[in-house]
Amino acid sequence: MTVRTLSLGRRATVATAVVCSALVGGGVAYAATAQPAIRTTTPRHADQVTNIDVLRQQIRNYYGDPLGTGTFAPDGNYALEAESVARAGQRWLDARRHAGTRGSGATKAIVLDVDDTSLTTWNYEVASNWAYNPATNGQFVTEQRFPATPGMVAMATHAAQEGYAVFFLTGRPTSQEAATLGNLTADGVGVDAGFPAPTTLPDGEDGLFTKPDVAAYPDYLKQACATDPGGKCTTIHYKAATRAHIESLGYDIVANFGDQYSDLVGGYADRTFKVPNPNYYLP
Ligand SMILES: [Mg+2]
Repeated sequence: MTVRTLSLGRRATVATAVVCSALVGGGVAYAATAQPAIRTTTPRHADQVTNIDVLRQQIRNYYGDPLGTGTFAPDGNYALEAESVARAGQRWLDARRHAGTRGSGATKAIVLDVDDTSLTTWNYEVASNWAYNPATNGQFVTEQRFPATPGMVAMATHAAQEGYAVFFLTGRPTSQEAATLGNLTADGVGVDAGFPAPTTLPDGEDGLFTKPDVAAYPDYLKQACATDPGGKCTTIHYKAATRAHIESLGYDIVANFGDQYSDLVGGYADRTFKVPNPNYYLP
């Protein structure tokens, strides 16, 4: 009997589990019901879909990088839109600065996703032609090659100066934690984006939350993800359970910033801010 599961990479398009059961004298294959990870409409005609090469060019234009050099323009539409989200976040944080918190005595906090929320991976999208590969992506991560997302360093720095705790919450694995911290802050390797250092929590945890291997899950992830396949947290469960854990340690997450809807749903934030990213979809 062979059991083969096509594991979902970061850019999952189809959740597929194929189970083959061998019988004496022959084999019968049963295919489990496969569902696309992305639910969307079914076009009736090809002209209802943007040609994928045309779409790639539209995205290059949106990033102010029509020739696909991998460097987005500071005055391109992407940068302007990201900055407008950061400014909206800052206005909200300023307005809430003196408001009461949901937990009495709680410290106000912000949570930021990393990829395409704090750091922009446009150079990798171009280099990979939008085909995510963990090995080549890991090289960009290790070499700390990602510039800051426009507007976000200023917003996070302002928030820290106003007394907000600053937490980063990413689906990047624990093995990439040091490189991620170095790229976000300043360690002299590759890009130093200049974010404020993540806030250390009262229990001694550092405030950059990367995703552990299942075997190393803390209790709050084990409990939240017990019914997920293999006990491995979906992105939504991982992120919501981590925000719940942060709030349980005496924080009120006033704003949660992310580029994926899976960063933003699941509660444990007073308000969410969606950073633009037309390059991929993570369920
Ligand atoms: Mg992201």
